[in-house]
Amino acid sequence: MKIAIVAAEIAPWAKAGGLADVISALPSAMRQCGAQPSVIVPGYRSLMDALTLEPVGPPMEVQIGNQTDAFTVMRAEVNGVPLYLIDNPAYFGREGVYGDRGTPYPDNFRRYLFFGRAAALAVAALIQPDVVHAHDWHAAMTPIVMRADPALRGLFSNTLSIFTVHNLAFQGIFDAGDFGLLNLDPAYFSVDFLEFWGRINLMKGAAVLADGISTVSPTYAREIAADAELGFGLEGVFRSRGDRFTGILNGADYSEWDPMGDPMIAHCYGASDPSPKRMCVRALRAELGLPQDESRPLIGMITRLTPQKGTDLLMNAMEAIMKLDLQMVILGSGDPAAEDFFQHAADQYSDRLRIKLGFDHGLAHRIQAGSDMFLMPSRFEPCGLTQMYALRYGTAPIVRATGGLRDTIVEFDPKTGEGNGFVFEEYRAEALFEAIVRALELFQNSDGWRRLKANGFAADFSWAYAARQYLDWFERLRRVRAGQRA
Ligand code: ADP
Repeated sequence: MKIAIVAAEIAPWAKAGGLADVISALPSAMRQCGAQPSVIVPGYRSLMDALTLEPVGPPMEVQIGNQTDAFTVMRAEVNGVPLYLIDNPAYFGREGVYGDRGTPYPDNFRRYLFFGRAAALAVAALIQPDVVHAHDWHAAMTPIVMRADPALRGLFSNTLSIFTVHNLAFQGIFDAGDFGLLNLDPAYFSVDFLEFWGRINLMKGAAVLADGISTVSPTYAREIAADAELGFGLEGVFRSRGDRFTGILNGADYSEWDPMGDPMIAHCYGASDPSPKRMCVRALRAELGLPQDESRPLIGMITRLTPQKGTDLLMNAMEAIMKLDLQMVILGSGDPAAEDFFQHAADQYSDRLRIKLGFDHGLAHRIQAGSDMFLMPSRFEPCGLTQMYALRYGTAPIVRATGGLRDTIVEFDPKTGEGNGFVFEEYRAEALFEAIVRALELFQNSDGWRRLKANGFAADFSWAYAARQYLDWFERLRRVRAGQRA
């Protein structure tokens, strides 16, 4: 099965969050399952500079409103998977992916309209796949034009179109006045297609027009179809897709996130020899300038600082948490108010709290290895990857039971020895506080703690399983589509 994967991020070169991790890991896993994936991403400067590339095919162009934008396709190979870059320096030859220093680029609508259309053209000309698998709103134009643009529809009549939602908080919503930039029949600006409360919604368009739509965990799939708050206004769309809508849990890329062979941490360790983890904790404390006090567990957090990730909850609980016998490090960036809050808190509780603002890949690895517990108090969480990494690093996740966190983390039961973390249900500061207290209590019980860590090491969320599920689902949808066309 030939699969063209279209997305706006790919780790390690162009990363804003978990989407990048998915796009770097899923194709290799699909390949190992016997499929032939290729990946299409924008030709960001970071990628153009880092990879050995060669142009493929003739220069191409797309219309964005009245403007004609040219591009070339550059090809590289990463882990045996062809990677195609849509090269247009005016749109993508910039420092950042979506913006610089927290400020989004003002022309992001145009950039990703262009990308989605250009990707569709490149895929038709160079790949002719059985399946086009587009991810999140930045790639939404691809499944939209595959079905809604008369000039492209015929090129994809034998191709299944799939759209995966990674984060509903970002839907690609823009002013109705810009609909002309899409170069689609005005009939598509209706509630049955791209119109959303008088505005254009690209994610909605893709969710309606793709042959299959998925999101990144079974629980999040249920939540966004059932709950108006979590569905961000698209809950009716998901419900209307019936069995064309599913949830497939992301995998964890253990080739990058495994303390047995992690070059970025102080000492390697794993299930068979967990003891060097203590040295990683010591090294992290030394790096952060925290007192070497082994009786106090160190809690790590690596996150975008946004309400999605529960930063408001943590802020509300901070004073109480800081009275507990623990240390904490937060690596993150995002809302300026949250950054300020945590910065001040770190000054106030300088003997126990550190905040590192910014994006630091190496430190993310050292926090996973050097923390005893990993905090994720998310308001909602489509899948979440960091809790899966934490398990592999013997770092006990403390999470709120939502989306993919509910699908991966189970409260530890000291009586049966089952479970891999600490889970709270209600989005309340007290519930978060109580979960941390439960974790601290178990930390003092060395047998229980050893058992908890062993359960974490044993968890296996490898991509092979997720890739198999995607391929089986594509196969089922292809049979349905072939049946409809017969
Ligand atoms: P989301 O995609 O919603 O941001 P995930 O848990 O799915 O959350 O994935 C986040 C990814 O981004 C992980 O690989 C995590 O290590 C990384 N990450 C998040 N914030 C930072 C940061 N400030 N510095 C380094 N890596 C980060």
